[in-house]
Amino acid sequence: MPASTIKPGLLFIGGQWVESAAGATFRTINPATEEPLTEVAEGRAEDIDRAVTAARKAFSEGAWPRMPAADRGRLLWKIGDMLESRVAEIAEIETLDSGKTITESSRVDVPMAADCFRYFAGWTTKIEGETVPVRPPCFNYTLREPLGVVGQIIPWNFPILMAAWKVAPALAAGNTVVLKPAAQTPLSALRLAEVAQEAGLPPGVLNVVPGFGAVAGTALVEHPGVDKIAFTGSTPVGQEIMRRASGTLKRLTLELGGKSPNVVFADADVEAAVRGASNGIFYNKGEVCTAGSRLFLEESLHDAFLDKLQAHTAKLKQGDPLDPKTRLGPQVSEDQMLRVLSYIDKGKKEGARLVCGGARPPGKGYFVQPTIFDGVAPGMTIAREEIFGPVLAVIRFREIEEVVRAANESAYGLAAAVWTRDIKKAHLAARALRAGTVWINTYGLYDNAMPFGGYKMSGFGRELGRHGIMEYTQTKSVWVDLS
Ligand code: ADP
Repeated sequence: MPASTIKPGLLFIGGQWVESAAGATFRTINPATEEPLTEVAEGRAEDIDRAVTAARKAFSEGAWPRMPAADRGRLLWKIGDMLESRVAEIAEIETLDSGKTITESSRVDVPMAADCFRYFAGWTTKIEGETVPVRPPCFNYTLREPLGVVGQIIPWNFPILMAAWKVAPALAAGNTVVLKPAAQTPLSALRLAEVAQEAGLPPGVLNVVPGFGAVAGTALVEHPGVDKIAFTGSTPVGQEIMRRASGTLKRLTLELGGKSPNVVFADADVEAAVRGASNGIFYNKGEVCTAGSRLFLEESLHDAFLDKLQAHTAKLKQGDPLDPKTRLGPQVSEDQMLRVLSYIDKGKKEGARLVCGGARPPGKGYFVQPTIFDGVAPGMTIAREEIFGPVLAVIRFREIEEVVRAANESAYGLAAAVWTRDIKKAHLAARALRAGTVWINTYGLYDNAMPFGGYKMSGFGRELGRHGIMEYTQTKSVWVDLS
């Protein structure tokens, strides 16, 4: 463990680094070695209250919502640049804390987080109202105002990136933020706070309080001083948050689970589709809410495709996530590894055919082998429930109507993909699939300008793009009597 990059974590509240009020701490573990990385101060209800109070003060009295929008933009741009200049350091922390490969964290997560701040920096000056044609002699116009104090609860699969997706648009719109990272992966969000502090963000505008969901998370969701909760995580936790947020009628955006269908037609570019199927399920060891965990293969292509996919999977190097050649790191925690293994057991018991993987490899670390099940029936647990691990369910189909129906037979609707050279079929399928994102002849592409979010039980609200920033604003109607 490089001691240079890891240091004990404190809470970041009102521009200060502070201990938790109760003096509580928790350990964060390196999932590749099962060794502790460091101690982090554990935020509890009292700390959340302190953070909300600081954020409220910064919103009601501070410069942030009042300064020229371009100045807010300049500061956010600076945060983006500073993140970029620290890619190596933050990527290493991210890899140590989460088990994701250094290739992913240094080439994707941290650079995209930096870009996200710069993308939303540009939006600060583009949040406009309207003039509304009301009856004369009156005049009506709208103001798009920030919501106030936003509570943001993020998961452990893309820690720095989810922090950026949440914090950048909220701040760009003039809100102040209390961010609660996941207990498994608090370190990179603390680095983001450091960067924000060095960039000159006024005190209280961004507060970062690591802690447990049931304690710090619940306190944030129920706090009457919080105007909105933006959450990314599992569907059951999203439901719980929705129930608890109703007490204070908070605005909510929820980005929840998925069981995304990846549909390969017989006329697809097979080599590209094999890579897409593999990336779709094995990227970030399957800990991806948009993972293409249900692979639908057209009957005539099924056997040859599966052979190629198996050969491709055999070549994926699993091991030390700090090694640039590694493609699959460990699951984020022991709990998560055990959960994934129990789904693999269910797959076997319910009669799916194990093609490869299916176990924990020998040695240290919370690894699960990349696993493919064929002959999966739609009713099986592994076809219905989100596993959040490197476990693929392969299902056959014969016709487009049949596969669209089967793909849509899910409580979730986060993403979907289709692979075909027939543009008509591709676009018809894209319209028929009930999902917030559809990829055609690719998988897992993201851009800060795209709206991202779920249909059905994958949640509501959109992140990124114009839609994403508007979720952090509210509209005021102003009347003027011109008579
Ligand atoms: P898990 O970590 O159990 O898989 P999630 O992935 O849904 O659960 O967790 C995402 C985020 O939600 C984490 O920051 C976690 O601490 C937080 N969280 C968990 N339970 C709650 C809750 N009841 N209220 C608020 N936040 C919660």
